[in-house]
Amino acid sequence: TTFETLNISPETQKALTALGYTQPTQVQEAVITQFVTGQDLLVKSQTGSGKTASFAIPLVENIIWEERAPQAIVLAPTRELALQISEEIFNIGRFKRIKVETLIGHTPFQAQARNLKTRTHVVVATPGRLLDHIEQGTIDLTKIKFVVLDEVDEMLSMGFMSQVDDIFEHLSQARQVALFSATLPQAVLDVKDFYVTDPITIEV
Ligand code: AMP
Repeated sequence: TTFETLNISPETQKALTALGYTQPTQVQEAVITQFVTGQDLLVKSQTGSGKTASFAIPLVENIIWEERAPQAIVLAPTRELALQISEEIFNIGRFKRIKVETLIGHTPFQAQARNLKTRTHVVVATPGRLLDHIEQGTIDLTKIKFVVLDEVDEMLSMGFMSQVDDIFEHLSQARQVALFSATLPQAVLDVKDFYVTDPITIEV
């Protein structure tokens, strides 16, 4: 399989080639193929599998450039991971001119708020800082149609799920959610139904 046979746009293929990604990894092939169904996804995949690009590619492909308010949210348990994800989405979306804003703690809130007022397609965030923006009214969530929860097992063990619950209370029901986790322990299976509905499960 090539990215071409997965119906990836020429702009995104060009970006992937520039990154040296010549062939999709297993998780990328599975997620890209299933994402188009519009159904929620439950994905078990390790770091190193190419999981970041597996969701970055479909997000970039499905963003409507003209829309000003954010259309996708990616939640990560740590600032470091959020920054890596933002970089990957930026690199993959560069020829589509996709705008990514990273909302993490220990960086100025007002600068983030200002950036959110200009065109932002994808928000990558840690739960606490996103919740701050929701509470301050500095983020417009009305156009969010895609939500990715990355490393949910880590978010659980770090005690972030009540913040994630609060965030979901503010999102429209008309959204597609992809839940990623390196492991699927009972604790993840117990909470998953709150986030995903009739998900397609992908284990690679
Ligand atoms: P991740 O699992 O998202 O942390 O990605 C692991 C590493 O694989 C990263 O360094 C990516 O840049 C790289 N990578 C992701 N997708 C591909 C691909 N299709 N071909 C080659 N390398 C890739």
